Amino acid sequence: MSGVEAARRGLVARIDPAGHPLPLSEAAPGSAGRTGFWRTHRPVLEPARCVGCYLCWLYCPEDVIEMAEGAGPRGQAVPVIDYEYCKGCGVCVDVCPTRALKLVEEPIGEG
Ligand code: SF4
Ligand code: SF4
Repeated sequence: MSGVEAARRGLVARIDPAGHPLPLSEAAPGSAGRTGFWRTHRPVLEPARCVGCYLCWLYCPEDVIEMAEGAGPRGQAVPVIDYEYCKGCGVCVDVCPTRALKLVEEPIGEG
């Protein structure tokens, strides 16, 4: 498969310095099953602290964050997390520059 064809299919995230495509898988909700079952903690948003920077959306490895344009208290975009597939890894919490996301322990028996 040519690099161009791979890129068109969405399989290539990068080209190495020698021009070879690096085929990387794409995140997709549900591709690893109902990953929400794995979760012991969930990320919870404090909308007032969010600046709508999209970093959580960009780095979520499960692609389970949608940005709701204009839904924040100052009209900023804010993340909406699909807890059905969020596995509670905390990447979004780690990359958030304003600590608008916090990991909160899941109540036992709920998921
Ligand atoms: S904790 Fe955050 S980064 Fe991890 S799967 Fe859930 S929404 Fe995505
Ligand atoms: S990373 Fe933090 S500040 Fe940026 S959009 Fe996500 S929650 Fe908001």
